[in-house]
Amino acid sequence: MHLTELQLNEYLDNESDDRVRIETHLSSCDECAARLAALQALFTEIESLPELKLSTDLAARFVPSPNLSPQLPRWLTLTAALQAVLAVVAIIFAAPFMADLLAPLTASRIVPSWADVMLELQIAFVVWLQSFQSIRLPELSSLAFNLPQGISSEILILSVIGLLFAWGFGNWWLLHKKNSLV
Ligand SMILES: [Zn+2]
Repeated sequence: MHLTELQLNEYLDNESDDRVRIETHLSSCDECAARLAALQALFTEIESLPELKLSTDLAARFVPSPNLSPQLPRWLTLTAALQAVLAVVAIIFAAPFMADLLAPLTASRIVPSWADVMLELQIAFVVWLQSFQSIRLPELSSLAFNLPQGISSEILILSVIGLLFAWGFGNWWLLHKKNSLV
């Protein structure tokens, strides 16, 4: 049985486990000896080939361009900042509102239990929901708590609506800008 290509390759690479058996076969088989000689000549020819230089430097294609900025686009950061400012404004508007809501709880000398606080909040929330059943501006004054002095319900509602519009416009602008870039 003749030697396989794999056996010859492994023999040439000095990776064969049974060199003795292969050499014994090669010494008695001219055909396999010729194949080994041809394979050896091929390897020698491959190794003698000059190293070809690539016409273009492939590595250069993967160097990041200095023109590409890793930062977010300016319009995106501006929109995010605008929304953050609007959120702060909304909190400032809501703060006296919440303080007035919690005033009867904190005014009492006895520290209310969590159950009392939750009950008060629940009642206020139910009353607040009921006020929405008939959407008329004066209805807001019939809430369980009064608005802080100087802030009428109309101003408060208009402020909230204005904030919602600004917020919505910001998001619309963001999407519009994004689509126009594509
Ligand atoms: Zn043979």
